[in-house]
Amino acid sequence: MVSNGTPEKRAAGAGPNQLAAAFGRQLSLASRSVHADDYTNTHTAVAPPMHVSTTFRYAENPDDLVPWSDMDPNTAQDWYIYSRENSPNTNRYETILSSLLGGPAVSYASGLAAFHAMVVFLNPKRVAIGGGYHGCHGILKLMHKLNGLEQLELEDEADLAKLQKGDIIHVETPLNPTGEARDLAYYRAKANELGCYLTVDATFAPPPLQDPFRYGVDVVMHSGTKYFGGHSDMLSGVLAIHPDRAHGRDGKPGWLSELREERLHLGGVMGNFEGWLGVRSLRTLELRVKRQSESTRQLVDWLASEKKAGGNVVADLVHKIQHSSLQPEASDPESWLSKQMPNGHGPVFSLWLASEEHAKRLPSKLFLFHHATSLGGVESLVEWRAMSDTTVDRRLVRVSIGVEGWEDLRDDLLQGLQALSKELKN
Ligand SMILES: *Cc1c(COP(=O)(O)O)cnc(C)c1O
Repeated sequence: MVSNGTPEKRAAGAGPNQLAAAFGRQLSLASRSVHADDYTNTHTAVAPPMHVSTTFRYAENPDDLVPWSDMDPNTAQDWYIYSRENSPNTNRYETILSSLLGGPAVSYASGLAAFHAMVVFLNPKRVAIGGGYHGCHGILKLMHKLNGLEQLELEDEADLAKLQKGDIIHVETPLNPTGEARDLAYYRAKANELGCYLTVDATFAPPPLQDPFRYGVDVVMHSGTKYFGGHSDMLSGVLAIHPDRAHGRDGKPGWLSELREERLHLGGVMGNFEGWLGVRSLRTLELRVKRQSESTRQLVDWLASEKKAGGNVVADLVHKIQHSSLQPEASDPESWLSKQMPNGHGPVFSLWLASEEHAKRLPSKLFLFHHATSLGGVESLVEWRAMSDTTVDRRLVRVSIGVEGWEDLRDDLLQGLQALSKELKN
């Protein structure tokens, strides 16, 4: 068996922490993206190797053999036995994410597999959830079939009052598909008052844009398919656990080892190749996300100012723009929103066009934006959202900004709207 560091080392992100200790400060997010997994290196190759093995040799020395039932639950994760339990590439991916997210991370085959695992683990009777990603509602429906789990409306005070101890307040922020933000401090106070867990789907604002643990969130969930993968070529889901909850004491397991044990039984692990791709992708997370966030700000500013000025194609065809940067609180540096997203807004926003027909026709007029679902990749995407989500208004077009030059994206949107205007006038 090959040891992969102790849980303490993993939690501390040992490699970069030695340097951080020498300088008396934590390393930057960018440095940790590149080096948080250095201590897991077992070979001189600089680029991580890809391990495809499903099974791993036990110790040569019989005296080093520890049967599963004798293992300390807090160290079991550091031994490779079988890849449904643990594997080197996903371990690296989790090691980096634990450092970037600020709490130990467990990876899953997809964002929905992560959400499912989280609900199974916390096992609430009720979940308060707002709009947001429709697939999460699908999981709650399945759970309702199994055990009667009740879905409550997050934005309805009367519904929130029905929550009891051990239930979940699940907040998606920023929200799919609008990119608008919700106030985490408000929901933390609610969860405390009601004795509920607070879980957050933070997919739309990955590091460095937002840190939900600053608000005492119990579990932070991400669809790693989006910004962590970042290249539209892998599925992944992540649960990061609040550091106070993660590690067990006195031989009792913490949430980290319990989630890992439950994942072993649910079986929803990432593939080896996806783990390898994920590490490759995380190296550039900060570069990509900063660029995507900044370009989105420029584009949303431009769209909003065109709309305000009037007498142009944006004002004529775009009836509403939704994004956290346009929420009234965004202009106040002391507001909850400015504090919650201190490093910029998310790279997804929504446009409401004049009619369903406009929304359906705009995507095919664009040259750079692909017309496809999903988000977070290096390629900019638009989606007439009705294509994949039955719950949204049919005039809505969701936009995910990639890493292209923002002026090119602006000009593409402009020519697309012009072409649409011309077509619909004829
Ligand atoms: C995509 C997405 C999910 C689901 O993730 P998958 O990786 O597709 O399973 C969940 N929540 C949000 C906000 C998403 O955008």
